[in-house]
Amino acid sequence: MSQETQNQNDIGHSCPYCGDKNIETIATAPYVRGFLLAYQMGYKSFIGCVSCVRKKLFGEAGLSALVGWFSITSLIINPFLIIYNLFQGAFLKSNPAKVKAKLNEMGIPLNPAEVNLTQIGYTLAAAMVLADGKVEAEEIKAAEVIGEKIFDDFDEAAFHVLLKGHRELPDITDIARMLKDYLDDDGKKTLFKYLLAIAKSDGTIAPEEKALLVLVAQNMGMDMNLLKADGAAS
Ligand SMILES: [Zn+2]
Repeated sequence: MSQETQNQNDIGHSCPYCGDKNIETIATAPYVRGFLLAYQMGYKSFIGCVSCVRKKLFGEAGLSALVGWFSITSLIINPFLIIYNLFQGAFLKSNPAKVKAKLNEMGIPLNPAEVNLTQIGYTLAAAMVLADGKVEAEEIKAAEVIGEKIFDDFDEAAFHVLLKGHRELPDITDIARMLKDYLDDDGKKTLFKYLLAIAKSDGTIAPEEKALLVLVAQNMGMDMNLLKADGAAS
């Protein structure tokens, strides 16, 4: 047991929020946002140290208390979700087994020698498809077609498994921060090229997409000049 704890501390997967402590836990916060008669339900997943993930859950509850009321349905659902997220935050504990499983699924296992670039590709592509809150068939198709060109062992089924589990996938900018000290420059560049190609697949890059990609590159600690030299960031 102590051996395992020792290994956990050696992994160098630091919390993407404080960058200080190691990742200890993972939690998913459901939320609802109302727009008069319509409402939207969604999930935000957080992975990090206990105190940062707790802050995120409380933050989500606070945000919902401010903006989660503006439709009849959300008026009914919102109090339950706020209470759920507050409780989840209050009783949040370190959960190494869950963290380990999630990191494996994301392609960034504890042992950096087992890093799986294709798996990280699925993770980032899924997180990017989900970044705007909707899953579009065209975006998924583009991620598959381009993925097969970039990764020799791209497997559509594995990609779909990650897409299906999207409720428990952290935000793409948080994932990018986790990759900063984990991947070498070549790995980062391959993944970034993949994301860029997906964003470009519909002919144009929307301003939100561009802003997101810049944030991803920054969080991964990429050399922006290198990207410009490649024409990637233009
Ligand atoms: Zn933290």
